[in-house]
Amino acid sequence: MNLPTFLGGVHPPEGKALTENKAIETFRPEDSREFVFPMALHIGAPSTPIVKKGDSVLAGQKIAESSAFVSVPKYSSVSGTVKAVEQRMAYTGGMELSVVIESDGKYTPAPSLHDLLGHKPAPSEYVNLIHEAGIVGLGGACFPTHVKLSPPKDKHIDHIILNASECEPFLNCDNRLMIESPDEILRGLEYVLEIFPEAEGVIAIESNKKEAIATMTAHNKNPKIRIMPLTVKYPQGAEKMLIFAVTGREVPLVPALPADVGCIVLNVSTTYQIYKAIAEGKPLTDRVITVTGDAISEPKNLRAPLGVSLLDLVHECGGFVAEPVKVLSGGPMMGIAMRSLDVPLVKGTSGILAITKKLAHIAEEGACIRCGKCVEVCPMHLEPTLLDHSVRRRDYGKFEAHNGMNCIECGSCAFTCPASRHLVQSFKNGKATVNEQRRKAAAQAKAKQEAK
Ligand code: SF4
Ligand code: SF4
Repeated sequence: MNLPTFLGGVHPPEGKALTENKAIETFRPEDSREFVFPMALHIGAPSTPIVKKGDSVLAGQKIAESSAFVSVPKYSSVSGTVKAVEQRMAYTGGMELSVVIESDGKYTPAPSLHDLLGHKPAPSEYVNLIHEAGIVGLGGACFPTHVKLSPPKDKHIDHIILNASECEPFLNCDNRLMIESPDEILRGLEYVLEIFPEAEGVIAIESNKKEAIATMTAHNKNPKIRIMPLTVKYPQGAEKMLIFAVTGREVPLVPALPADVGCIVLNVSTTYQIYKAIAEGKPLTDRVITVTGDAISEPKNLRAPLGVSLLDLVHECGGFVAEPVKVLSGGPMMGIAMRSLDVPLVKGTSGILAITKKLAHIAEEGACIRCGKCVEVCPMHLEPTLLDHSVRRRDYGKFEAHNGMNCIECGSCAFTCPASRHLVQSFKNGKATVNEQRRKAAAQAKAKQEAK
């Protein structure tokens, strides 16, 4: 039977077998060690620390907040003492203002969000509570969830789609969470459906996750929720591709949003956290991460406290069994190459992938042979070869005119390119330059207006 999917896309080697049958293990170090909490948010305004050096903190205590709408508070995952508020290296390789906490290994809990609220939340309070709990998209984008759940009043939401496709090779955190915590995910989705009572819930899972499909189907008793298997194809989990596969609706190009076609898309791990916040009053202080690759001694799925060093997680998996030539935060398609593992686990870190020469595809970049393969696979129907030429010739007007800003950086074009062109890097540069040009133009226009 042909399962729903989208046009374009690629079939990279799955690499899931290393951890797909490994139950989630809890990593909760009970010695005293350093935890680092960066204030930056991948998308949105950074938070401001509300603790200072020498302060005692509890596990689940708020340590930073922001008044910006597109931002969330930050919580300590451990009890201990604030050692510093200073610049520390993040997984991107850049320095970020961070709260550094020396843990006491006891995890003494702070009052819950329910305690602070004084009662169990009503549906009208769910969105505020989700914001207060610091919940962001755990699929990697880290977009604040309360913003997604606050669409403009004129948008009629009829689909809440749970992104359970986990199409990124090697990763299994969402897959294992569905197998081990189906009731929490289903209840989390029911809470969201209470916010949007006219919507139906769809849990969209790639068909290679048979145990997750069977488990979610067996546990679902709600007629407003259906489990929908999808074709295995990358990038099935990208928001626009998922909406098309589930509803047949096309989200228009940027700046359109899923809400423009009546949909809100949430990751399954995010929905699990919504359950924890609403049912138990728990803020987001830990997450499941897949530590994997042929360079890792014992690949695992770990539930770990935010702020812990990624190096500690690799040690928990027995360290390296062979010299890795590539270490990525995330999977092989959209992951970010890391210079150091001595950086903290953050909300968007879904995986650590360490691979040896045997698995890594390292090839010299060649000249474009105009084969058109990149155009065939682009799920956004862009012309990657043309966009690449535009960026390399610094013709950013052409890059923009040919919808380069709509590139989702999925890497399908680079994966299929026989010349190993560094296409994604090129598009990242193009997008960053256009954004900078737009920012400068807006600042100039504002200054001109103020001078009048
Ligand atoms: S151009 Fe962008 S969206 Fe299209 S395949 Fe390449 S990375 Fe993906
Ligand atoms: S796939 Fe590579 S070689 Fe072929 S047209 Fe695209 S950029 Fe050029």
